[in-house]
Amino acid sequence: MAGVNRDSEAGDESADRYGGADTGVAVDGVGKTYDDGGGPVRALDDVSFAVESGEFVCVVGPSGCGKTTLFRVIAGLTGATDGSVRVAGAPVTAPTTDMGVVFQEYHLFPWLTVEENVGFGLERSDRPQGERERRVDEMLDLVGLTEFRDSYPKSLSGGMKQRVAIARSLAVDPELLLMDEPFGAVDAQTREMLQRELLDVWASTGKTVLFVTHDVAEAVTLADRIVVMAAEPGRVAEIVDVDVPRPRERGDPAFGEHVARVRELIGAGP
Ligand code: ADP
Ligand code: MG
Repeated sequence: MAGVNRDSEAGDESADRYGGADTGVAVDGVGKTYDDGGGPVRALDDVSFAVESGEFVCVVGPSGCGKTTLFRVIAGLTGATDGSVRVAGAPVTAPTTDMGVVFQEYHLFPWLTVEENVGFGLERSDRPQGERERRVDEMLDLVGLTEFRDSYPKSLSGGMKQRVAIARSLAVDPELLLMDEPFGAVDAQTREMLQRELLDVWASTGKTVLFVTHDVAEAVTLADRIVVMAAEPGRVAEIVDVDVPRPRERGDPAFGEHVARVRELIGAGP
């Protein structure tokens, strides 16, 4: 994988901790204290876990346990107070195009069409124009929005806007897809459809996905493993393997057992 030999001293340390594996994401002892004058808030405390490349990992926990803070640290949007994050072996210090980032509130450009939004990140890449156009066509096809390519975001439903955001994040072919409650603003039916679509994209592209949600059933639907967080201070309570074959059915007893187990860990009751 690209970048494993960069910054070899700290890299060796991280490789030791994770058994030398070809790790997609390594979160190592991450702490974050906010101090905006109203007294310090320990949003994250000694958070460590690894995501293997190609793995689908969900981070789940109650509101305020530091999920968005963790997402922002991994994306390079804010710095950690302690510890480090590596993606493909390289320390994260700023946002990069190796990561596709999807926020809860779409963040589409209202003055650009669907097609222009999807191609936005590619415009700044050095790929030839023909290749960029092909890539946009592929991404529109992947998320089923080809016929809406000339529409503007304001005429789209919430589910369609989030598909545009997903297509845009995938267009630059990132190693890692990082998502913070991406389906939080759509209705339950659309949400289940987007979950299925995301799993299809993941299965067909082999991307590494780190997906933040407060919805336990969503995490059990999607993840290979679930990082369960607890609040005050934000920390890892446990990491749960979801050994339920896909596609997963909510009515399956094994599905229900995993949901109950994770709910118990976050103290939400069964
Ligand atoms: P989650 O996404 O799990 O709901 P957050 O990461 O948004 O959690 O917040 C974790 C904690 O950090 C909360 O107590 C929140 O109030 C606090 N927090 C988040 N952002 C800031 C900020 N910019 N300044 C001060 N405190 C913050
Ligand atoms: Mg959040």
